[in-house]
Amino acid sequence: MALTDDISYLKGVGPQRAQLLGRELGIFTCADLLEHFPFRYVDRSHIVTLATMDINEPYVVLKGVVRNVNVVQSSKFSQRLTALFFDGTGEMELVWFQGIRWLETYLKPSVEYLIMGKPTLFDNTVQMVHPDIEPFVADDAGGNHSFVPVYSTTEKLKAKGLNSKGISRLVDTLLNQPGLVVPETIPPYILQKYKLMPRPYAMRGIHFPSSSQEMQQAMLRLKFEELFFMQLQHQQSRINRMRGTGLKFSLVGERFNRFYNEKIPFEMTGAQKRVIREVWTDMRSGRQMNRLLQGDVGSGKTMVALMTMLLAIDNGYQACLMAPTEILAQQHYANFCRMLDGMDISVELLVGSMKVSEKKKVKRRLKDGEIDILVGTHALIEDTVVFSNLGYVVIDEQHRFGVEQRARLWAKNSVPPHILVMTATPIPRTLAMTLYSDLDCSVIDEMPPGRQPVNTIHATDAQRLRLFGFMKRQIAEGRQVYVVYPLINESEGLDLKDLMDGYDSISRSFPMPDYQISIVHGKMQPDAKAYEMERFKKGETHIMVSTTVIEVGVDVPNATVMVIENAERFGLSQLHQLRGRVGRGGGASYCVLMTKDKLTPSAKQRIDTMCSTTDGFQIAEADLRLRGPGDIEGREQSGMLNLRLADIVDDEPIVRAARDEVRSILEADPELRHPDNQLLRRHIDSQQAKLSLAKIS
Ligand code: ADP
Ligand code: MG
Repeated sequence: MALTDDISYLKGVGPQRAQLLGRELGIFTCADLLEHFPFRYVDRSHIVTLATMDINEPYVVLKGVVRNVNVVQSSKFSQRLTALFFDGTGEMELVWFQGIRWLETYLKPSVEYLIMGKPTLFDNTVQMVHPDIEPFVADDAGGNHSFVPVYSTTEKLKAKGLNSKGISRLVDTLLNQPGLVVPETIPPYILQKYKLMPRPYAMRGIHFPSSSQEMQQAMLRLKFEELFFMQLQHQQSRINRMRGTGLKFSLVGERFNRFYNEKIPFEMTGAQKRVIREVWTDMRSGRQMNRLLQGDVGSGKTMVALMTMLLAIDNGYQACLMAPTEILAQQHYANFCRMLDGMDISVELLVGSMKVSEKKKVKRRLKDGEIDILVGTHALIEDTVVFSNLGYVVIDEQHRFGVEQRARLWAKNSVPPHILVMTATPIPRTLAMTLYSDLDCSVIDEMPPGRQPVNTIHATDAQRLRLFGFMKRQIAEGRQVYVVYPLINESEGLDLKDLMDGYDSISRSFPMPDYQISIVHGKMQPDAKAYEMERFKKGETHIMVSTTVIEVGVDVPNATVMVIENAERFGLSQLHQLRGRVGRGGGASYCVLMTKDKLTPSAKQRIDTMCSTTDGFQIAEADLRLRGPGDIEGREQSGMLNLRLADIVDDEPIVRAARDEVRSILEADPELRHPDNQLLRRHIDSQQAKLSLAKIS
């Protein structure tokens, strides 16, 4: 029997179960079954007694005898089988609703059993419903494996006898097929270097470990394999991209120099200068740039974007900047116009809410090459937007854009333009290493001078009066305040009502004419929003009450207080983004997290994290830990992380080792032609064959 064989040929499967296995778990071949790894293990050597058992444990192992087997007819159609279990320290009721006929003959009073399952309390007596049960075999008799693998399965499979135990039986059958070959995928020199278990042993070790050491070794080997091949795929595609042609910008021209020498109102930070150099090196290399720029909120990414756009323009190309919201696009547009004033560079805006005639005009001028910089939203992607020679695309706050959207921008020039993706959502190092290993990465790790860490305070309604007093004192000092409400789902009126109630209460406590209040939310017309933002920006209003529309990018250095209402309803990265709106001017700044009194443990952890650190990377890592990588915003991030075993937070050392190893292999042997690397090539080819097969069927 071979691993490539259809699963239906395995003894104990047959056509019906095979179909179900495929549909429910994606197991089509024997190899698929082998790669259906247990998600945890039960340690059978850890036997507890009824007297000391913790009723809250999710799974316990007991040893004892079974008496008083009894079938109860509870209604015309349903039966249950009950039995009493004794272990010398107490007794417990066992209950089954299925498999009754078989159990009646299986359970013998003379046999000592291992009983495994979750204890429950029913009518004040301890019960176990549908426990796993098997005769106890003393260890020295080579009997029960001490670790029982637990497999994920589904209700439909369980109904066909394929519960966790049934699956384990199939895996056991498969591994004991005479002559079964589990092929190695990693060359011996790598196995030796990292002291990794050969694949056949690892497969046995992960399904049926005989010791915890064997389990660890098997796990390590298979996690390494998983991360290694993911890296190999990413890094190879990056190499292929680098081989392709890209626009070659060869000169640093008059506009860049003039802007740098005359227009910048401050000294660029070292990190900003370094990133501009990195981008410039790419742009003149003759290869297409695909670069990710990470920098915490307020680190000055926009200036980097603008300066590098000037490089493109100096070389005769158009540039565009794409922002996730209209407010942001408008703000970037206004900033660029202001900063480029008197420099003979034509900047235009293109957003969905513009009049059709205005849009038409912009598009025509764009096509005719009359526009140097186009700023906009998703509207830029539309096919009707045609550039005369697009050379450079900057995407701001990329987590709102999908991969496909990025790809559509490539097609807007015959040679794909250079691309810079900017994100303020710090991507945890390990995630960046796994997901973005096909992008080059730049980091702004230095804040402009004068920034102060934001003091973060947790408060509840009981402290609201004090909060209002504090806001009044800040306003008296000439400062401005944000009050933000969550808006999880704009179509649900409830969130909007929260916002309006809050606005009413603030209006009462901060009456006109002494206080001016702005309000902005998603249901407003774009020009009304822009008008209110503008008033706040100019300092005409003291308080900005809003939903998360201000989450990304809004820049009002005079604002020093950020009040976040119902803070428990925000995720960590959102909270961090919001907090980044203050602490931008010289003055001390504050972030107040308002929550209800009782918090869930994870909400409490989020709030505690926010109060204890302002480091974006620490927050991103806490976020990843609390939510798991699957939850991370954006399809590209969750969809691509198709890891079965490895955990990119806990397994950072393995991620790192795999990445470095792949890097050095590809440096020496980019095509994997060396005889030592044949195994790698073969494995990649077989994976690709499998993928194209999956597409056909
Ligand atoms: P972000 O990285 O969040 O997009 P911005 O580019 O909006 O940050 O910059 C935040 C603020 O800091 C802006 O007001 C910008 O003008 C200012 N700024 C940017 N770079 C510097 C610098 N080197 N020195 C002082 N202020 C700077
Ligand atoms: Mg920004």
